[in-house]
Amino acid sequence: MAADTTSGSPLRPGTIAVTAGRPDKVPDAPLNTPITMAATYVAGGEVEYGRYGNPTWTALEDALGALEGGRCLTFASGLAAVATVLDLVGAEGKVVVPRHGYTGTIMQLADLESRGRLTAEMVDITDTDAVVAACDGAALVWLESPTNPALEVADIPTITKAAHEAGAYVVVDNTFATPLLQRPLEDDVDLVVHSATKYLAGHSDVQMGAIITRDDDLWAVLKGRRDLVGAIPGPFEAWLTLRGLRTLHLRVERAQANAQELVRRLGEHPALSEVRYPGFGAIVSIVLAQGEMAADLLSRKTRLWIHATSLGGVESSLERRRRWKAEAATIPDGLVRLSVGIEDVEDLWDDLRAALDGCVG
Ligand SMILES: *Cc1c(COP(=O)(O)O)cnc(C)c1O
Repeated sequence: MAADTTSGSPLRPGTIAVTAGRPDKVPDAPLNTPITMAATYVAGGEVEYGRYGNPTWTALEDALGALEGGRCLTFASGLAAVATVLDLVGAEGKVVVPRHGYTGTIMQLADLESRGRLTAEMVDITDTDAVVAACDGAALVWLESPTNPALEVADIPTITKAAHEAGAYVVVDNTFATPLLQRPLEDDVDLVVHSATKYLAGHSDVQMGAIITRDDDLWAVLKGRRDLVGAIPGPFEAWLTLRGLRTLHLRVERAQANAQELVRRLGEHPALSEVRYPGFGAIVSIVLAQGEMAADLLSRKTRLWIHATSLGGVESSLERRRRWKAEAATIPDGLVRLSVGIEDVEDLWDDLRAALDGCVG
């Protein structure tokens, strides 16, 4: 792993984000790993074919692996990574999953359950005792922390210990926190999953996913699934994500600072009945006191904040989550998820406050 060449001590995350996954420093080597467009390779080497490997993926996988503290595999999307992890569950195995997990993950589980492949047990991720009890007989415990869009936080170390005692694997979807704010592998979690589409790439122009693990056997099984199923990223997407990763620490720092300032100011606003924020990260969920109509109005009234799904880009966006049929019925109708970007916070506040002023009952 990345080590400081001068002192021998481990590098800090911001330095890893900038330095990991670069070509060897030899005369005339490019500073950045080039985009390698190749469907096949001259025989006799380790890669052989485009579905099995690509130097541009490898550069990104080295960097993201170093940030999370494990070995990384990249995928065509976050959900391709999710599907690959769920594929580890044996016939009729039990999966424990947060009731407010990402809708795509919940939908994959529902689909697999409807076809008799596995059973899914939904839990309230904040009720640690209930989650620990649900670990009994489980093959896989799926954690997402904070959850999307309820922003609930799980007690990862306690749940991981209980899951391991029950013989289950533990996975954490770390999309919201990023490896800068939370490194689940250090809490003994087996697998970390990312939608790299969000903060890692960070510019709303790439769809990609990743899995990171410290377990070489698990890594080999997952690599075998990727080879066979072919949910592989494009080389250009891998290059863009690595380029985005170079500024991850700056983007997360700024977006988080903006979010914390907005949370301080939003608490007073009469249009809102609730502001949800886990204390870290840059996603904030607000609940409009006047419900669904006011929330839809807010989405139309902002000028700077873009009405769009997804999150984690440099630009601020917002969305009423219940406009999606698949969103959990326990998420309030009037909940709007804010993805706070890296603009000047005063401009973000001016725009949001003006739009909210128009949504007071
Ligand atoms: C977006 C998202 C995913 C799915 O990733 P895609 O890249 O859209 O396939 C998974 N988990 C979380 C928490 C997400 O926000």
